[in-house]
This record gives sequence, structure tokens and C-alpha cells, in this order.
Amino acid sequence: MRTCIICYTTIYPQDEVEILLPNPSIIHKPNNILGRYKWFPSNYCFTCLEMCKSHIWKTYIHNLENAHCNTITRDILNIPIPLWLTDNMTINGRPIKALYYRGQMISSKLYTNMNDFDYYHLQEKIKKMQMEFQNGIQKAIHDRENITTIFQNMAI
Ligand SMILES: [Zn+2]
Repeated sequence: MRTCIICYTTIYPQDEVEILLPNPSIIHKPNNILGRYKWFPSNYCFTCLEMCKSHIWKTYIHNLENAHCNTITRDILNIPIPLWLTDNMTINGRPIKALYYRGQMISSKLYTNMNDFDYYHLQEKIKKMQMEFQNGIQKAIHDRENITTIFQNMAI
């Protein structure tokens, strides 16, 4: 039996979650599409994974809204927009492709309410802001307020 590394509760076999990740043993054989991903046991319980789906997004927005200096804002803008759970719940983790829990395949996407258009729009905004950070801070601050509004409308 496993123990969830976030909440320390025991995960009984019937409650185990599996996560779909790139298969390390086949990663250098690009033609083998079927074997490219593999299910691994999760170190987190289902409840914590679900909590992370909304918590990670909310934290990202909160940090962006409350960045108290331009360096921090720039740093936040330089990380990729978080869209998926990762295997270690950090920005450096490998994105989880899907979850498997109690006989069901479940999405590993964060709860953001973003569609493809929103995401594209947001990426364009962020690219523009990154350029403005290089050119002049004042304009970037103004845009940061705009982007915060977009985020707020998308977050649930
Ligand atoms: Zn847990």
C-alpha cells in the first residue's frame, strides 16, 4: 500500500491512481506510438490530485496579481502557463497525459476554463509583455493589469 505524499493518508489498492507519462524505455524510438506512454502508480491520492488541479492555477494567478515588483512579475511570465498536472507538481515536472482511477480515464488538465483561443490569446499577450519588459517597465505594468483581468475571467 502507498501513502499519499501530500496528505499522508493510506491509499488502498482500490483507490490507487495511475498516471500516464512518457515511457522512458521507448522514448528514443519515435515510431513506436503505442509504446510511447506508460501508466505509473501515482504518489498522490485522488483527492489531492483533484485539489492540485484547481490549486495550482489559482496560485499562479494569485502570484501574478500580487507580484510586488517587476522582477517577480517577469519571472512569473517566463515560466510556461501551467495547464496540466505534472508528475512532481512543479514546473519542471513531466506533464501527466491522463489519470486512471477506479476504472476510469480522467483528464489531468488544470481547472482553468481556458479554451484553445483563450490560451493562444494569453500566450500572445505574455510574449508582448516580455518584450515590453525589455523595452520599458511602465507599459508592461499597464498590460499586467489587463492580463490580470483576463486571468480572473478565466479562473473558476
Ligand atoms: Zn492525498
